Amino acid sequence: MPTRNAMNQTVTPIKTSPDSALEPRPALRSSLAGHALYLDIDGTILDLAPSPEAVEVPVWMVPLLQRLSRKLDGAVAFVSGRPIAAIDLLFRPLSFPAVGVHGGEVRTPNGEILVDEQLTAELQAAEPLLREAIGRIRGVQLENKRSVIALHYRNVPERGREVLKVAELIVGSLGSQFSVLMGKCVVEIRPRHLTKGSAMRRLMERAPFRDRIPIFAGDDTTDEDAFEVVNGLGGISLRIGEEAPTAAKFRLASPDQLRGWLLEVADA
Ligand SMILES: [Mg+2]
Repeated sequence: MPTRNAMNQTVTPIKTSPDSALEPRPALRSSLAGHALYLDIDGTILDLAPSPEAVEVPVWMVPLLQRLSRKLDGAVAFVSGRPIAAIDLLFRPLSFPAVGVHGGEVRTPNGEILVDEQLTAELQAAEPLLREAIGRIRGVQLENKRSVIALHYRNVPERGREVLKVAELIVGSLGSQFSVLMGKCVVEIRPRHLTKGSAMRRLMERAPFRDRIPIFAGDDTTDEDAFEVVNGLGGISLRIGEEAPTAAKFRLASPDQLRGWLLEVADA
């Protein structure tokens, strides 16, 4: 169905196959004017690597992000499962507005960091017990991101069910404020209401994001609630990767295709 974007241009997604695959290019090709750009990192603007430390940032990536940010008056934000400190290290010297640990941390455009201290303290109190339980499953890595604890089992994918069971037990003892989130070979224990979607809403209340049409690109199940937020605001939800059930309205097959599009619109 045709819709109107902020520039009053008609945007018409074109269906290419009966099962919800939408051709993204016609709607995405035009200029970014009037939009705000929210970018997941791993599997979205960067290729997935065997571990979070092993990702490669192309040398032209930081200049590209700078051009995009200038073009959008600063309305470019990272929306990642990584802590904001880790995002900054990856894209030095940038320090963009950001959503870290899937919504557990938000850095506003004026540099303020928003976290829920109370829930972080409750989660940290349960960390020793969790570390002990997970220590019995060989090959699983515990990553303590303060407001979120991640259990990585990429090296032992067959142990996924056990890891999930341990996480569910801990969440059971923590109470209803917390939930378990499954990603690609990772299980996270996190505050239930702090999601990428809720964090993006907080950024969208603030200039320069306010009153702009959001574009959000992500690749994982942890991005689905943000796709829904963006859809609700009449924005562009863009899933990167193979076809899969998703709330996203558009799809590009790979991070490489997304980078290609970003280069195109940055210089348009
Ligand atoms: Mg991702």
